[in-house]
Amino acid sequence: MQQINLLSHLLNVMAVAGTNTVAVLAFGFWNRPLRLATIAGYVSVPLAYSAIVYTARVWRNQHRPAHRALQFVRRYNILTACLGVSWTSLLVGLASVANPPERSLLFSIEVAAISTPVLVAPASAALAFWLPVTIGAFASVSNLDWPLNLITSVCLFGYAALTLMCLLYLNKNFIDRVLNEITLKDQSDVIRLLLRDFEESSSDWLWETDDELRLNHVSARLAEVSLTTVERLRGRSMLKLLTRASPGKGDNEALLTLTHRLADRAPFRDLVIPLMVGREERWWSLTGKPMFDDRGRFTGYRGVGSDVTTAKKSEQRIAYLARYDSLTDLPNRVLFGEALHQACARCRDQEIALLSLDLDEFKSINDSFGHATGDALLIAVAERLRGCMRHGDIAARLGGDEFAIIMAADRAAEVSAFARRVIERLSQPYRLDGRLVEIGASIGATLAPCDGTSPTVLLRNADLALYRAKADGRRTWRFFEPRMDDAVQERRSLQADLRHAVDRNELRLDFQPIIDLATLQVSAAEALVRWQHPQRGMLISSDFIRIAEEAGLIFQIGAWVLREACKQAASWPLPAKVAVNLSPMQFRDPSLAQTVEKALAASRLPASRLELEITESVFLEPSEQTIGSLHRLRNGGVRIALDDFGTGYSSLSYIRSFPLNKIKIDRGFINDLGTGNDASAIVRAIIGLAESMGMVTTAEGVETEEQAAALRSYGCTQGQGFYFSRPIPGEDLVMYMESHRNLSKQDIRSRIARAQAA
Ligand code: C2E
Ligand code: MG
Ligand code: MG
Repeated sequence: MQQINLLSHLLNVMAVAGTNTVAVLAFGFWNRPLRLATIAGYVSVPLAYSAIVYTARVWRNQHRPAHRALQFVRRYNILTACLGVSWTSLLVGLASVANPPERSLLFSIEVAAISTPVLVAPASAALAFWLPVTIGAFASVSNLDWPLNLITSVCLFGYAALTLMCLLYLNKNFIDRVLNEITLKDQSDVIRLLLRDFEESSSDWLWETDDELRLNHVSARLAEVSLTTVERLRGRSMLKLLTRASPGKGDNEALLTLTHRLADRAPFRDLVIPLMVGREERWWSLTGKPMFDDRGRFTGYRGVGSDVTTAKKSEQRIAYLARYDSLTDLPNRVLFGEALHQACARCRDQEIALLSLDLDEFKSINDSFGHATGDALLIAVAERLRGCMRHGDIAARLGGDEFAIIMAADRAAEVSAFARRVIERLSQPYRLDGRLVEIGASIGATLAPCDGTSPTVLLRNADLALYRAKADGRRTWRFFEPRMDDAVQERRSLQADLRHAVDRNELRLDFQPIIDLATLQVSAAEALVRWQHPQRGMLISSDFIRIAEEAGLIFQIGAWVLREACKQAASWPLPAKVAVNLSPMQFRDPSLAQTVEKALAASRLPASRLELEITESVFLEPSEQTIGSLHRLRNGGVRIALDDFGTGYSSLSYIRSFPLNKIKIDRGFINDLGTGNDASAIVRAIIGLAESMGMVTTAEGVETEEQAAALRSYGCTQGQGFYFSRPIPGEDLVMYMESHRNLSKQDIRSRIARAQAA
């Protein structure tokens, strides 16, 4: 079709040139005899040109429909063939009457006619013309004299062959080019379709600016994300649209980069630009390429854009979560680590304190109220902690109920005051889900640079100090001291040894008699565990029970104590009760009641002879499991005694809610008896309360005869302490029991009288 188009345009010129030549020939040969061929040529050449020009016009006027192209090619072929034959007839006719110079003229016209088809396309039409004029040329050459006819024929042949080859070559080239154009057009059609589809269906948009960076192609999607209309955007400066607002330092840099790129007419890719659309902060990702015209002049930018707000926000959230605690919004361990590094780097110029803070008994809150309340408590704690912070100081949550604080401080007194304030603030009750929850906090503090300058050392120091604060009774704070480190090493090595103590049979039981204050008979004996350490010698319970609890070894040790105590008690000469201490941790073991029952069954000791000593902390937010175990034991006939009464949380409500058999008054009160303070009033009140509830009372730590006498006069049921006996090995206890059994009533009476007189 391209060829027909080209031909239809060239034909007018060719027709004028051809008809003009015919006129010149008619004028030149007007006085020569007319041959039929000549007449036919004079008539048919202009006619053929007219027909061809007419056909070309028809073709053009018909808007060159593709499906009719073949029909037109066929028509052209016939007409060009007719034209060729007409020229041949005219030239051959004239040649027969021409003199030699005229022949030369005719010969040059024949050569021109042979070469004309090179300009004609398609190849079929060119050949249809070339063939008759070439034959005609050879026919007219044959009229020449020998050897001129041969020489001219050879030259003509070479020339005709060259014309034929050029004709075919140019046509092929033409066809290739047209084919390329067709492919290109197809491709651009596909691309146009794809782009339209992209604009209609994708969340991205295409944009284009003029050379002054004003938008000239605005897609509906771009208008939509800009909360405006296509018309309003068209002609607007691209940069103005983007610089509406740009919060954040890093993001401003992207905008700056874009401005530079646009100014440099450089391409850019995936530049994420922040901007305010309405009142909302959004992010657009832009890719653009400058466009230049044929002369290399900048004509504008073209590119794609997409709204990446969602991705950007999740990216920011992820970055935030990597450095902040999602529950409390405090900095997390990562950010805190960085801050500590920076603080350490500056600590020689600016002294700092690192505080490790841990909530007391947080686990029991979690266990008793559930994790939701635990979380709510942590959020409230973080809020209060934030309220205590000074500007520039940092509080972070390192995990669980662990917090840490970095503060600028050059005096320990300043840190002390801060720690006290924090503990007081955090210890005030919290109202969570309609109930009041209380929790304490302990703090360990270390100072830099005097205690150390590296984050690792400072963190360890603060943890050691925190450990000490916890050991010293919680709700308090301690400063790091170098000897704390030694104590920790010591504890670690003891812990390692304790793991094998049960297997290596290194544990022993001592028993401390509990004496009936009225009869002075042994009514019970408390089993106290001892550890025969291979290097350190005999260790008493207070040396290792807490270590056993920390290492989780208390379950194994507790079970051994129960078995051993029951076994020994079963062989005593008296039906005295055996008191066994239970750590609050043992109540976390769901098989506690079973362990007790097994120990009783193995020793055949009646349950009524076993007394379990528990502490007040068991009742601090008791879990269902704890209460369940206690009831099961109680129902099985085991007696429950409340140890160290008065040292713990001093809430009497649990005494009412759980039926205890005995209260053991802490030795702190007994120590203070007779010193003139309130101790005797308190002891009497406890005894009165226990009596009213049908409970037995045991006074612990009775060291003097006077204390024993006073307690007896208050109505205390039993006494235990060095005055009666120190803790003694099992065999000695048997002897002790024997000797007490043999005390005559007279002995007892005189002892009591002696005590009362004293
Ligand atoms: P506790 O149950 O209050 O045991 C009494 C502690 O007071 C014993 O210390 C005993 O030696 C000491 N003591 C007794 N009379 C006097 C006195 O007149 N004056 C003074 N100053 N102290 C006296 P021990 O053996 O070091 O036991 C300490 C704590 O270790 C016990 O306190 C008990 O809570 C715990 N414990 C002992 N044996 C076990 C055990 O087998 N399991 C568990 N879980 N804890 C145990
Ligand atoms: Mg005890
Ligand atoms: Mg006690």
